[in-house]
Amino acid sequence: MKTTSRGLVRTVLALVGALCCGCATHHAADPPQQAAAQLPGPSTAAPSPAAPPDPAAVGANELGQVPILMYHRLVEQPTSVYDRTPAAFRAELERLVAEGYVPVTTTEYATGRIDLLAGAHPVVLTFDDGDATQFALGPDGQPAAGTAVAILLDVAARHPGFRPVASLYVNAGPFDSPDGAALRWLRDHGFEIGNHTRDHTNLATAGEREAQEAIASGQREIERAVPDYRVTSLALPFGAAPSNGGLALRGGAEGTAYEYVCVLMVGAGPAPSPFASTFDPASTPRIRSQDPAGEDARYGSTAWLDQLAAAPAQRYTSDGTPDRISYPASAGVTPAAHFADRATAY
Ligand SMILES: [Zn+2]
Repeated sequence: MKTTSRGLVRTVLALVGALCCGCATHHAADPPQQAAAQLPGPSTAAPSPAAPPDPAAVGANELGQVPILMYHRLVEQPTSVYDRTPAAFRAELERLVAEGYVPVTTTEYATGRIDLLAGAHPVVLTFDDGDATQFALGPDGQPAAGTAVAILLDVAARHPGFRPVASLYVNAGPFDSPDGAALRWLRDHGFEIGNHTRDHTNLATAGEREAQEAIASGQREIERAVPDYRVTSLALPFGAAPSNGGLALRGGAEGTAYEYVCVLMVGAGPAPSPFASTFDPASTPRIRSQDPAGEDARYGSTAWLDQLAAAPAQRYTSDGTPDRISYPASAGVTPAAHFADRATAY
């Protein structure tokens, strides 16, 4: 069932300056290897050295589905359906490589900064709760061996083009790093730091004021450790949205205002393209990383990656041209109105 498309992921990717929102925070968050790269865009005076890829030839579908994978702890002896072993995590990354996926962050996904080679598929890797098995700094100031971030970096080093980026959703005091050094390392290396509320509050049972305080205080904790960082996405604790769902996207408390481009839920299927009319930044679904066996495995990552591989027309496939949104007329998905001028059916 797996398809191999190693050639698609071998080439260095680029984040195009023209597509960036222009804010200093985002530039600071870009990995150096991407920020330095340039691709010709439509407004560039110099002629493009090569014609843009033919969308039909690469099966482009930029209105297709994007898997946003959700991880919690990496442990040798899982005790819940949310745990994975380090070996299973590495194997899942290797599968993503083999099937032509390339990681983007939640914010890159939600803002449409999905600048991949023609034929590649975006995937978002998300981690909740700030657990030290996801990331910790060793005595040498580098990611501790065996953590998810260290494994991701190792897989990416073996497969150039597989971007070592992820979005980590933290509560107070993440990654056993009281001085905040862990968060600053993540920021400096292109990882996204997202809000998961300060105290892992159930926002569905909180009042409106309490919900905003929970979110704002979580953001404040991140900003305290990384003062120049702008938090732009939230993962709902327990997947529970406030009764006034808009308060997850924007609000404020005690002098801290927040506004997010994406609010992540807990389950239970692929997310729509950010260019599709069905994209809802206030409630974006994720897929729990999970083996094919076990509780509710049909909602897990192995099952969903199998389905996307078996139905490639459903999956987001890049056309290789950042400013153009290509999709097959047969896709059955309509572009969002505010992207209609960039969308081209074939
Ligand atoms: Zn959580």
